[in-house]
Amino acid sequence: MLTLATVNPGEPEVFSSLQGEGPGMGRPSVFVRLSRCNLACRWCDTAYTWRFSGDNRPHRDDLAFTRADNQLALSEEEAAALILAHPEDRLVITGGEPLLQGAALARTVALLKDARPALHVEIETNGTVAVHAALDPLVDQFNVSPKLAHSGNDAALALVPERLAAWAQDPRAWFKFVVETPADLAEIAALQQRYAIAADHLFVMPEGTASATLRERSRWLAEEALERGWRFTDRLHIHLYGDTRGT
Ligand code: SF4
Repeated sequence: MLTLATVNPGEPEVFSSLQGEGPGMGRPSVFVRLSRCNLACRWCDTAYTWRFSGDNRPHRDDLAFTRADNQLALSEEEAAALILAHPEDRLVITGGEPLLQGAALARTVALLKDARPALHVEIETNGTVAVHAALDPLVDQFNVSPKLAHSGNDAALALVPERLAAWAQDPRAWFKFVVETPADLAEIAALQQRYAIAADHLFVMPEGTASATLRERSRWLAEEALERGWRFTDRLHIHLYGDTRGT
């Protein structure tokens, strides 16, 4: 079984959209959002995947979500059928932290690749969880977003050395660092150096869930990216649709 997030109670979050971030930005894709996360970022824009009633880890909006309304368990066959109802040849598996459900995800993606062999499979991850052995060969791209100190997570949980070293060596992995203030950049530079992350696989992206915030932060962040030889990514979906589910 896979545990998905919901757009509305009882409605799984499977949708067509343009990929909003990173190397695939602007590509038509079908998305599936899985529930649950092992981290707790204080600015997380999908806290409805993990901050269920009783979870009091800090979050800037201090919202609590009802588990029954925000999660939905589906069989691998049911999830695959919902995804295949969308015509796009690119799948983005996002969350939450999708790799927490590696075994079920492997079974789901195997069904999808049987039905649509050319399907390009992309997984968005916070980079802390090893990829399930059965899932790994089925994935074409990993968008790895390690969480910096400003996320509020303990570095011992958020920055796992053996995982970061492995991602840095994997040509399928693209790093995407969320940046809130210029003070975050030294931490990224240190990680780049420590793990020998290739500059052309390193994106910086402004934190923000409103166009005005993204535009303000993009001005100085784009300059910094240019200076440091990093890549820059906006958050296209926020400009197009705002901070909404199913987009
Ligand atoms: S790792 Fe991603 S899903 Fe998890 S809390 Fe952080 S931003 Fe949210």
